[in-house]
Amino acid sequence: MSSLSSEQTAPPSPETTDWIGIAERDHVITSWSKQSGPPPRVVTAAQGCWFTTADGTRYLDFMSQLVNTNLGHQHPRLVEAIKRQADTLCYIGPGFANEARSRLALDLAELAPGNLTASFFTTGGAAANENALKLARLYTGRQKVVARYRSYHGASAGAISVTGEPRRWPAEPAVPGVVRMFDPDPYRCACNDAATRCAVCQGGPHLEEVLRYEGPESVAAVILETVTGTNGPIVPPDGYLRSIREVCDRYGILLICDEVMVGFGRLGEWFAVDKWDVVPDILTCAKGLNSGYVPLGAMIVSEPLRDWLRDHTFSGGLTYAGHPLACASAVESIQIIKDEHVLENARARGEQLTRGLDRLRSEHPSVGYVHGTGLMQGLELVRDRRTKEPLAPFHATPDQAEPVTAVIDAARSRGVWLNRHDSVVRLAPPLIVSADEVDLALSVLDEALVESDRAYEG
Ligand code: PLP
Repeated sequence: MSSLSSEQTAPPSPETTDWIGIAERDHVITSWSKQSGPPPRVVTAAQGCWFTTADGTRYLDFMSQLVNTNLGHQHPRLVEAIKRQADTLCYIGPGFANEARSRLALDLAELAPGNLTASFFTTGGAAANENALKLARLYTGRQKVVARYRSYHGASAGAISVTGEPRRWPAEPAVPGVVRMFDPDPYRCACNDAATRCAVCQGGPHLEEVLRYEGPESVAAVILETVTGTNGPIVPPDGYLRSIREVCDRYGILLICDEVMVGFGRLGEWFAVDKWDVVPDILTCAKGLNSGYVPLGAMIVSEPLRDWLRDHTFSGGLTYAGHPLACASAVESIQIIKDEHVLENARARGEQLTRGLDRLRSEHPSVGYVHGTGLMQGLELVRDRRTKEPLAPFHATPDQAEPVTAVIDAARSRGVWLNRHDSVVRLAPPLIVSADEVDLALSVLDEALVESDRAYEG
């Protein structure tokens, strides 16, 4: 393994950290899990693309935590910007203007494509989507929303209702008025040939059919992840997004692009929609907006919506709408992305990662497909390439997921922090990742995939 591999440093004395895990187990309710599991690892330090746990193990964070620490951990300029803002103004109510929020709103108006020029700030991605859905319904006077099955839009009531994946199920019956369409999965759809592309993968024709049966005049919005994150990655074919846009325009339906995970450089562009030159009516973002150093999200709306809001009440608000500490960190984050050529690095490292993953696919039979683009990629593991039977079934139990988990565990035991979703091993390093770090992750993955090859039956 390379010299960058996980290093052991002297662990802090157990008395200083043991209580953290115990308090966590007994007094913290952890997300999306039964509370009887083992306490999570205690993290004592993090820097750049690496974090360190209490036992002294260093991990290369190839997930950017929850795909949000795009500028890595403890970026000195970001930390300094938060300190500066804290010295000036930690908090002021959203009814007052403050320099950090105004600066950020101007930056977003300049960076976001087309006529997306006004922002409502939130504390994260779900709240941005929640407000986008609300605004779309207010503006159109219609109730229904079309969403896709393979999606995650957040955990709050409205956002989980438009979410397609199984995390929605316990929330049902959810907010009514959501209808669903299918997703353009390049591996699983039978039509993976551009010449014979099916209605689902073209986008517009499938949406049009859904609308025919729902009544297009009752539909306020289509919401989709421009490139599906957690439930993918799913990169739509060229032409897909434009085709959806055209159908929305035909029926006066708003297009909401959820870029909470892919906005701010994950795919090598400021926004994923920039890849296809399509402008939604509302774009939502969070995560990479400020690398999550302070909770922040935004809903950026087009000029017609902004103008409409001049004479109509925007019926939404948050105590922390445009928190100065969060906005100041986002302003600095945007400047860092420009100054440090972060988009260029994301593109170069993304290409390197794609080449490496393609090579792993050619060497490991259990790798059925390489999904994704830029620095959001995934290896779909299969039992048999011919039948495409996934290594773990959809919504697998921990037992069923074991062959995939074995790959993740093998990578983590070698100091590279990865994650999985169903049968997909996910990779999403910080956008500042170096060429050596990408090589390290690929070589560890090469070793870890022996685990899934063992379960291969083709
Ligand atoms: N939308 C997408 C595409 C996401 O990936 C997420 C979170 O992972 C959300 C929305 C919800 O964001 P938050 O957890 O900040 O509410």
